[in-house]
Amino acid sequence: MQIAVIDQNRKPLAPTSEVRARLLLKKGKAAVFRRVPFTIILKRVVEEVQVPELRLKLDPGSRRTGVALVNQGSGQVVFAAEIEHRGEAIKQALDGRRAIRRSRRTRKTRYRKARFLNRRRPEGWLPPSLTSRISNIETWVKRLTRYYPIAGISMELVKFDTQLLENPEISGIEYQQGELAGYEVREYLLEKWGRKCAYCSKTDIPLQIEHIIPRSRGGSNRISNLTLACEGCNQEKGTRTAAEFGFPELEQQGKAPLKDAAAMNATRWALWERLKGFGLPVETGSGGLTKYNRTRRELPKAHWIDAACVGKSTPAQVIRDGIIPWEIKATGHNSRQMCRMDRYGFPRTAAKGPRTVRGFRTGDLVRAKVTSGKKVGCYEGRVAVRSSGSFNVTTGAGTIQGIIYRYCLVIQRADGYRVNRAGARSQNSSPTKLAKMLAMVGVSF
Ligand SMILES: [Zn+2]
Repeated sequence: MQIAVIDQNRKPLAPTSEVRARLLLKKGKAAVFRRVPFTIILKRVVEEVQVPELRLKLDPGSRRTGVALVNQGSGQVVFAAEIEHRGEAIKQALDGRRAIRRSRRTRKTRYRKARFLNRRRPEGWLPPSLTSRISNIETWVKRLTRYYPIAGISMELVKFDTQLLENPEISGIEYQQGELAGYEVREYLLEKWGRKCAYCSKTDIPLQIEHIIPRSRGGSNRISNLTLACEGCNQEKGTRTAAEFGFPELEQQGKAPLKDAAAMNATRWALWERLKGFGLPVETGSGGLTKYNRTRRELPKAHWIDAACVGKSTPAQVIRDGIIPWEIKATGHNSRQMCRMDRYGFPRTAAKGPRTVRGFRTGDLVRAKVTSGKKVGCYEGRVAVRSSGSFNVTTGAGTIQGIIYRYCLVIQRADGYRVNRAGARSQNSSPTKLAKMLAMVGVSF
């Protein structure tokens, strides 16, 4: 992965290799500015900036979003990450709160007043769980544009391109050859038939495109005559029609077109609107195109690789050697709940302690150099503050309890995200190049 470089005025410069960054740090020409995305700051101002064309590419998903920063000239992936959203956690928290409030209202205890029909939803309202996904992505786009000279954004807006499906003549050469069309058709069918075999309803198995009325019996290649089946069902059905095979309802179902809305979900649409606000050109692509791009380039499936393949601007070659994506998990900032309660809704714990203790907050990345006592050593990780001033520090190896605040130094403030290198746990024995480099300049990772 390449390392972001900013100059003294915090202007993003061309990202550099780990080797060069190490040299700059060693010679004292630069300092570590930020951990993720790893950024170094030069100790001088750079007047004339020559930057490569970098494109930030996003593959938004409901649980995870793939992020890739691609050098358009060389096809090199410069930065890769997968953001894990907390939509599910938000939904659970709100459901829990709702249940507790309802319970308190009906029991006429304490101060929870009756709720009237006084709620109004503004235009374009999205549930909090979805809003959080959009905000997560927006935050990271904002961060990356701050440290990398990004020239444009690509995002996957729709699962399949309805326009291409309806009007096969309208676009480029790949489409005329029909290969890309095949991918769009496949994505369309997956969406329409719920990603399962239409006959036995099995999921997570390879699905084949299947003719409801077989070709041999005069069935057409039109999309209304296509469905998805597993290999077993496809073989078994043979030259029978779906009705003869015992599924008469499939013919009707096949004729009903899938509405445009199914291809375009509200979250992605809202995200697109937000991304336009960055003032960079935003390119959109379909899921079919992403898959086509990825397959053509013989790349494996991963969220960040999908992201690198979004849109027509994808370079002919996507170089991903040595890229280990960052795993970014949205953790939220704090809980608004003042204290925990028992099953009857009465306070169970004391009111929560202060958020900031001796200048530290839970979630800050700290380095603790313990010089005396039983826990002598250097620990680096996420801190959990206690109002007593005796903190817990969670490192890659485990949690060390009872570290006095005086030994701690903040490396990076908590920002609502927990970041790991993918597969870091299994690679603990062999430190990455980046970790070695940081160790050289006195920073452990
Ligand atoms: Zn089947």
